[in-house]
Amino acid sequence: MDMKQKILVVEDEPEIAELIRMHMDRNGFQTTVAHSGKAGIDEIARSMPDCVLLDLMLPDLDGLEVCRRLRRHEETEKLPVIMVTAKGEESDVVTGIELGADDYITKPFSPRVLVARVKSVLRRTGSGETESKPGGLITLADELVIDTERHRVSVRGKTVNLTVTEFGILKYLAGRTGFVRTRDQIISAVHGGNTILSSRTVDVHVTALRRKLGEVGRMIETVRGVGYRLSESPDGA
Ligand code: CA
Repeated sequence: MDMKQKILVVEDEPEIAELIRMHMDRNGFQTTVAHSGKAGIDEIARSMPDCVLLDLMLPDLDGLEVCRRLRRHEETEKLPVIMVTAKGEESDVVTGIELGADDYITKPFSPRVLVARVKSVLRRTGSGETESKPGGLITLADELVIDTERHRVSVRGKTVNLTVTEFGILKYLAGRTGFVRTRDQIISAVHGGNTILSSRTVDVHVTALRRKLGEVGRMIETVRGVGYRLSESPDGA
């Protein structure tokens, strides 16, 4: 019952690592620090944490390479990873998300936001992917119902007419609520790899989708410089 969840902080700057450790421990986690990418990989193999907070700029293996290696191995394939990035690393964030990182947080961050992110990632990965119920129904916030078999969407019981692409985008984002998806991920999910969609047109489709969904459209959150995520409620929780 009293098992604390284990967090591994992979961070080469001692002050930042200590700061994160302090806030995590204060919030009931058991935190370990590794000061390089290689040390991080070793620590994961030794103690298998519940979540990794991964700095990107590290002395030996950088964060993206660590992430790539974790995703390549079955034991760590689904280990929750939150990238901790500096401002201006948006393109690395995009790469990291595409490599399978679950989320990211930008330095400097507030301790409150950090803890919330970790809890949210743990909750989501604990509950697994959004299950579509028998019949292919995904229901979100009691308001938005996505019928993945019949390709129908309704908001508060009223049918919303979506184009095939809008439906595809919504279904893809709803498959894992709370997780950031890059434009390229959306493009390959919706068009199976053939590039009819461009990044720009993804934005256009999302704008149209939001408008059609009305208030519920706010659940589709723009993640600046990265992509989109579907939150679990209209308040963005
Ligand atoms: Ca660093």
